[in-house]
Amino acid sequence: MSAASRAKRNDPELEVTVLERSHDVSYSACGMPYNIAEPEREIDDLVVRQASVFREKQKINLLTGYEVTSLNTRNRSVSGRSETEGEFTLSYDKLLIATGASPIVPEIPGVDSPGVLTLKSLNDGREIKRYLKDHSVRRVVIIGMGYIALEMCEALRRRDIKVELVKPRPRLLPWMDETLSDVVRREIEENGATLYPGQTIERIIRRDDERALDVVCSRQTLTADMVLLAIGVTPNSQLAEKAGLELSVRNAIAVDRCLRTSDPDIFAAGDCADSPHEITGKKRYIPLALRANRSGWAVADTVSGRETEVQGVLGTSVFRVFDLEIARTGLSLSEAIEEGFAPETVSIKTRSRAHAHPGSTPIYLQMVGDKKTGRLLGVQMVGQEGVAHRINAVAVALHAKMTVEGFSQSDLAYAPPFSPVWDPLLTTANQLVKRMK
Ligand SMILES: Cc1cc2nc3c(=O)[nH]c(=O)nc-3n(C[C@H](O)[C@H](O)[C@H](O)COP(=O)(O)OP(=O)(O)OC[C@H]3O[C@@H](n4cnc5c(N)ncnc54)[C@H](O)[C@@H]3O)c2cc1C
Repeated sequence: MSAASRAKRNDPELEVTVLERSHDVSYSACGMPYNIAEPEREIDDLVVRQASVFREKQKINLLTGYEVTSLNTRNRSVSGRSETEGEFTLSYDKLLIATGASPIVPEIPGVDSPGVLTLKSLNDGREIKRYLKDHSVRRVVIIGMGYIALEMCEALRRRDIKVELVKPRPRLLPWMDETLSDVVRREIEENGATLYPGQTIERIIRRDDERALDVVCSRQTLTADMVLLAIGVTPNSQLAEKAGLELSVRNAIAVDRCLRTSDPDIFAAGDCADSPHEITGKKRYIPLALRANRSGWAVADTVSGRETEVQGVLGTSVFRVFDLEIARTGLSLSEAIEEGFAPETVSIKTRSRAHAHPGSTPIYLQMVGDKKTGRLLGVQMVGQEGVAHRINAVAVALHAKMTVEGFSQSDLAYAPPFSPVWDPLLTTANQLVKRMK
C-alpha cells in the first residue's frame, strides 16, 4: 500500500491495481503484541488507513479477497482466484511483488491442533484475542525466544497468564554477549515467565477431555491452554520461484538496489525480498518494517520515471521486554567472525544518567570493531532507559563507515537527566579503541 499510494501521488494518471488475498490492508503489525496485552482494546484499532480511503480518495484499484496464484512473465499477467469473481487474470506493464512472509511452522506431530497459533497477520491477532477470551486461557507455552516471542511473553504476563518459553538452541538472544542476555533473562524471570532453552520440541498432544495441550520436549512436557509458535518467518516467494525469478538467501526474492528482480519489469519489496547488508555487501534476509516501507516508496518512484536506489540494511532493531529496552545494529561478535573480520569487542556496564542524578539505571553495551581496518562493526545494548534511540547514533555511524576511533570523537549531547558527560556509547568506544591498539 506504501508503493501504491506513492505511485498515485507521483502520477495521478497511473493505473494502479493492488491484489490482496485478505481483507486487511494498512495496519500496524508491530503493534499487535501491545494490543493483545489489553483485552478491552479492539484489534482493529491498529488499522492505519481503511480500504475505502485507498479506493475513494486515492483512486487505487484495491481488490481485497483476491489471491494471486501464478505469474506469467512472458505475457505479463498475474492470475488467481477472487472470493467474489472466481478466476481472474490481469495484465501489467510493471509488477511489484509484496507478498510478505509466513510464520515458520515446525513439522512436528500435533502442530495443527486447535489452540496452536501464530502471530503474523491482523487476522492472527484477531484469532489470538478471540482464543484467549473464549477459552479462558490461563497457561501459554511459547515456542521460540525471538523478539515477537518476548513481546508476546510480556503481553500475556500483563494479562496475568502463566507463560513458559521453550526453544531448541541453548542461548537466549545468541547475538548478544552473555552478560547482556543474562540481564534480559533475569528481567523475564523476575516477571514470572519461565525459559527453557536447549530443548527440542518433539510433539504437541491435545487432551480432548480437558482441552489442554501437552508440549512434549526433549527433557520435559509443558502443559498449556494455548501454544504460540514464534520461531521466525519465511519469505512468501513461491509465486516468484514458480515464474522462474531468481531467489537468494533463505529463499527470499533476489533484488538489486532498485528492488528489481531478475525480470526487469518485476520488482519485489518487503518481507518477501532480500537486502544487501551495509557492512558486508552480502545478501541478507532481515524482514523489518522500515525496509519494507522504504522499498515500496523506491519502487513507486522508479515506476513513475525516477530511478531510485535504496541503501542496504544493518539489522537495526529495538524491542521492549517488560521494563527493558533491547537494541542492536550492525554485526554481532559471532557474525563478525563468520564474515571474516578480525573483530575485537568490549562489553561494559554504565549508567543512563549523570552520576549524582536521581533515577539512573544501568545500561549494558557491547561494541564490536575490526582490528584490521579500525572500522566500527556493531553495537548491542540493554537497559531500562536510553537504549531505544541511542542505537540510532550507531546506525548512522555504520552507514557512514566510521572507525571506532572516529566514532569515539563524536560530539554527542549531554545533560544530567539523559546521560553521563561521557555518553555510554563514547565510554564503550574509548575502551574499544584502547583494546584495538
Ligand atoms: C507481531 C509482529 C511485530 C512486529 N514488530 C516489528 C517491529 O517492532 N519493528 C519492525 O521493524 N518490524 C516489525 N515487524 C515486521 C513488520 O511488520 C514487517 O516487516 C512488515 O509488515 C512487512 O511488510 P510487507 O508489506 O512486506 O508484508 P505484509 O505486511 O505481511 O504484507 C504482505 C501482504 O501480502 C498479502 N499476500 C501474500 N501472498 C499473497 C498472494 N499470493 N496474493 C495476494 N495477496 C497476498 C498478505 O495477505 C499480506 O497482506 C513485526 C511483525 C509482527 C508480525
